Amino acid sequence: MLVVLFSVAAAQAATPEAEARATAARLTGAALAGGQSYATVSSLADRIGQRLTGSPGAARAVEWAVKAMKDAGLKNVRKEPVKVTPWLRGEASAEVLAPASVRLHAVALGGSVATPGTGVTAEVVEVESLDELKALGAKAKGKIVLYNKVMPRSRGFDGYGAVVPMRGRGAIEAAKLGAVAALIRSVGTGAYQLPHTGATRYDDKVEKIPFAAITAEDADQIHRLLASGEPVQLKLRLTCKRAPDVESANVVGEIVGREKPEEIVVIGAHLDSWDLGTGAIDDGAGCAIVLETARLITSLGLQPRRTVRVVLYMNEENGLSGARAYAETHKGELKNHVAAMEADAGAGRPLGFGVAGGPESVALVRKLAAPVMSLAPTVGVSDEAGADLIPLQMAGVPVLGINQDMSSYFDWHHTAADTVDKIDPVDLGLVVAAFSVMAHALAESPERLPPSPAPPRF
Ligand code: ZN
Ligand code: ZN
Repeated sequence: MLVVLFSVAAAQAATPEAEARATAARLTGAALAGGQSYATVSSLADRIGQRLTGSPGAARAVEWAVKAMKDAGLKNVRKEPVKVTPWLRGEASAEVLAPASVRLHAVALGGSVATPGTGVTAEVVEVESLDELKALGAKAKGKIVLYNKVMPRSRGFDGYGAVVPMRGRGAIEAAKLGAVAALIRSVGTGAYQLPHTGATRYDDKVEKIPFAAITAEDADQIHRLLASGEPVQLKLRLTCKRAPDVESANVVGEIVGREKPEEIVVIGAHLDSWDLGTGAIDDGAGCAIVLETARLITSLGLQPRRTVRVVLYMNEENGLSGARAYAETHKGELKNHVAAMEADAGAGRPLGFGVAGGPESVALVRKLAAPVMSLAPTVGVSDEAGADLIPLQMAGVPVLGINQDMSSYFDWHHTAADTVDKIDPVDLGLVVAAFSVMAHALAESPERLPPSPAPPRF
C-alpha cells in the first residue's frame, strides 16, 4: 500500500516537462537502438524502385505504402484518390557538332516537350541567370539557351534555391525571346557526368520549347569552347511526352488521438520519385522517417492526445496533384489541423527545426524540441516546410520541418545515383529520433501553434 501511495504521489509530482522528457527518451532510445527506418527505405527503394507519377512503379508503391502503414500499427489506412498526368521520359541525346564533336550526357527535364523527331540544331548562347538572359534580348532568337550557373554547396536548401528558378522558368523565359530550346547545367553539386532531372514549367501563353539538363563537366566544356570565340553548334533530341490522366492515390493512416481525435497533426513525405535512380534519398528516406515515427509511437503504446495522421503524397515531383487533392479532400477539417510536418530533405543528420511563423511559433517549437536539443539544437523560422504542405500553409495550417545536413544531398538528388547506399543508417536513426519526438509532442501538447503565414512565393 505504501508503495502504491508513493507511486501515485510521484506521478502527481511529475511535471508535464518531465513527462515529455521521459517520452522523448523512450522514442529516441527505440529509434537509435532497434529502429527499422533503414530497412523501410531499403524495401521501398530496392524492391519497388523508381516511382515516377503514373508509372507501374508508382502504382506498386501505393500498395507497398498501404502494407507498410498497417505494419506500423496505423488505423484507418486508406488510399485517397489523386488524378495525375503521367509524363514519359523517352530518350534524350545532345551533341556539340562544332567547333568540336562532343557527345553530351543529357536528360530531359520533367514535363518537357519533345523536340521534332530529327532533333533541333542551333547555336548555343550561354547565360548565368534569368536576368542575364533578359539582357540578351534579340540575341537569343533562334538559339539554344544554356543556363550555366554553378550551384553553391550549402547545408540547407539555400544553394538549390539560388539556381532552381532557372530550371522552373528557363524554358518560358527563353521562348519569350525566340529561343528554340534550352539546356541547364545540372541543378546539383555533383559531377561524375551525372545529369540531374527535375520539374520544369510552361506558360500556356508562351511557346513550349524543349528543355534538358546536361552534366557539370559538359557545361564546363561548352563554356570553354564558347570562350574561344567560335560559335558552338549543338543538336538536341528529346522524345518525352505526356500521357492521358490516370487515377493514383495518396496513402493515409492514423494513430487516433485519445482525447481530441478530431484534432490532427499531419506527418508526411512523398511516395513518388524521379525515374533515374531508385528514390532512396528523395524521398524514400522521408517515407521511412514518417513510417518509423508512427511505428515507434504505436509500438511503445503511446497514444497522444490528438490524432497523428501519416500522409504519403503522390506526385510531389512533377505536379503536386497529391498535395492539392489532400487539401481539397480534407478542406472541412483544415481548421482542426494543428500542425503539419514533411520529411523531404534526405537522410542527413538532424540540425534543428524550422517553423513558418513568428516568435510565438518559434518559442513553442523550442519548448517542444527541448528534450532533443542535443540532437537537433537550432530552432528558427522557415518560410516553407515542404512542397506538399503548401496548400495547407495557404489555408493557415501551422507548418514546420526538421532541418537536416544536406551538404551531400544535392550530389545525388534527382540522378541515377539516388540509391540506398547514400544513406547512413545512424544518421537516419538520429533524424527519426528527433522527428518522432516533435511529432508526438505536437500531438500531446496542450498548446497549439499559431497559424502559419502564406509562403512568400505565393
Ligand atoms: Zn523530394
Ligand atoms: Zn525531388
